[in-house]
Amino acid sequence: MTVTTQDVLRWLEVSQQVFAEHQQQLTEMDQAVGDGDLGISLDRGFTAVRAELSANPPADPRSVFQNVATVLIKTMGGSSGPLLGTFFLRAGATCADKSELEPADVVALFQAGVEGLQDRGKAALGDKTMLDAFIPAVDAMRSALEAGSSLADILDRGAAAAESGVQATVAMQARKGRASYLGERSVGHADPGAAAAHLLVQAAADVWRP
Ligand code: ADP
Ligand code: MG
Repeated sequence: MTVTTQDVLRWLEVSQQVFAEHQQQLTEMDQAVGDGDLGISLDRGFTAVRAELSANPPADPRSVFQNVATVLIKTMGGSSGPLLGTFFLRAGATCADKSELEPADVVALFQAGVEGLQDRGKAALGDKTMLDAFIPAVDAMRSALEAGSSLADILDRGAAAAESGVQATVAMQARKGRASYLGERSVGHADPGAAAAHLLVQAAADVWRP
């Protein structure tokens, strides 16, 4: 299958629903290692994204992602607002003026988004951040693409790798963001940003299938 502008819009709509449903869980996770604002920030940001996209539906995937980036940066705050904003900005830049995305384009957009997030936040794998879900997800997607898998299989592999990545953050000590202030006391809790990254990839896997 190819991903149309409509499919991209649907992904963001479902992401908004998912973040609304998980607001309490993400809040509790961020209370354990941070300041407890992540659930509320994501719900606010994606609610604003949904409102903007339905009021002014963009014509192509790149414009959708650019609008998402602008709205998230404006409305979310925290560390995750600018980081996710950068993710969508870089993801959009890979779409050029394509009206539909092939599986390779989808993998490329996630990869560029995650590289942008990495440039912006200067975190590495193992620092207990959203990258610990995003990087394994992109690696798994790229392997599945190279093995000739369908888009649905590529995204399922990505979502599964992201979920394992979230579990792996439990044993990690945070080296970035507010959670790093806790030092060794950050060990034993999953990273809330990683959980949010998994939800985003999972939403794409749920929506982008024939
Ligand atoms: P804060 O309240 O600390 O400003 P948020 O609650 O918005 O931040 O987001 C917290 C999440 O942001 C963390 O769980 C982590 O996944 C992610 N994060 C923090 N710093 C970085 C970074 N430098 N690079 C990548 N992700 C980061
Ligand atoms: Mg926070």
